[in-house]
Amino acid sequence: SGGDHRALDGRDIDVCIRVRPLLPPEMARGFFPTTFVTRNCSVLSLEPRVDVRGAPRVKAHDYDVDFAFGPDHSNQHVYDHVTRPLIERGLKGGVCTLLAYGQTGSGKTFTIEGILRKLGRDLLQSSRAPPWLTAEMNESVLKLHMAFYEILGHRATDLMQETRPDITIMEDKFGQMIVKEASEVQLISGDQFEAVVDRAMSHRRTKTTFKNDTSSRSHAVCAIRVENTAMPAAEHGRIFVIDLAGSESASDSQFHDRSLIKETQMINASLMALKECIRNRALSALNPDKFYHIPYRNSKLTLLLKDALEVESHRQCKTVVMACVSPSCGDVAMTLNTLRYVAPIR
Ligand code: ADP
Ligand code: MG
Repeated sequence: SGGDHRALDGRDIDVCIRVRPLLPPEMARGFFPTTFVTRNCSVLSLEPRVDVRGAPRVKAHDYDVDFAFGPDHSNQHVYDHVTRPLIERGLKGGVCTLLAYGQTGSGKTFTIEGILRKLGRDLLQSSRAPPWLTAEMNESVLKLHMAFYEILGHRATDLMQETRPDITIMEDKFGQMIVKEASEVQLISGDQFEAVVDRAMSHRRTKTTFKNDTSSRSHAVCAIRVENTAMPAAEHGRIFVIDLAGSESASDSQFHDRSLIKETQMINASLMALKECIRNRALSALNPDKFYHIPYRNSKLTLLLKDALEVESHRQCKTVVMACVSPSCGDVAMTLNTLRYVAPIR
């Protein structure tokens, strides 16, 4: 059963932090780093404070995570530690999810794009000659299919097409998740995979509906389906790689436009729903006799991830939450928000 798999494979949720390097424009403005990786699994963030007498103080915040990556760690290093393990599960019919969370400018897209390229090539290679192929799976042929969507509030659009038509994310009457009208391409080579990713990402960037770049206010979802010719469609493996919308809150955002405020509130609602779902799923794995409500119907994003989040799911799941943060003293408040968001998930 799924429970046995979880016990065998250890925890099914990994919480990671990635502290990016201080960028040249930040150095030019006199900013310096105040958030550091202290061991390979903890992060220290120093917050300037003023005490009751008005004297400056520094408050130290220490957070433990499953993996902490610092400014000197490459995408390859991050990939090797937290993404490669998703491949085998995905190819075996599991549901794997990698989520990049953090404020705009914290390194989410840098991380997702870097990791996605390596993942595509490795997946293709492993799908042709799965090292774990057993006698019972000998009949299986694995084929990879990819879709790419963007979720902006309640709307989802297809990033595979330049016109970005709307798509529908819903449950059918059997509770199966379906994504209607979304295009899928079969993956045949690493170069083709990269070209498809580049094209989808460029559709995300160029189509700006409002004043600001949409890419910081929408979730970009790369959805890979692992078709196993010996299995029914409902048992196909799924790998989701998601570049989440910027987590800056409505109150501290620079948006004054009413529609932007509404949109920011919707983004925050979906990020809150996501956190609650992941956390409750983790708790229910720890306490199988207790009931935890998993509110995956609260947002399009969590509905899409239903199979990965649902407790009743019999499928092997693995979720990696990659919290991206800036090291800069100028961003310490946002960095602490991010660390507070991910800490309770773990
Ligand atoms: P986000 O998607 O969270 O808004 P980006 O991924 O666009 O942030 O990163 C912001 C800037 O920081 C970009 O110029 C990016 O190249 C740079 N950057 C982010 N992470 C790293 C890293 N680990 N090493 C070097 N540069 C980085
Ligand atoms: Mg981005």
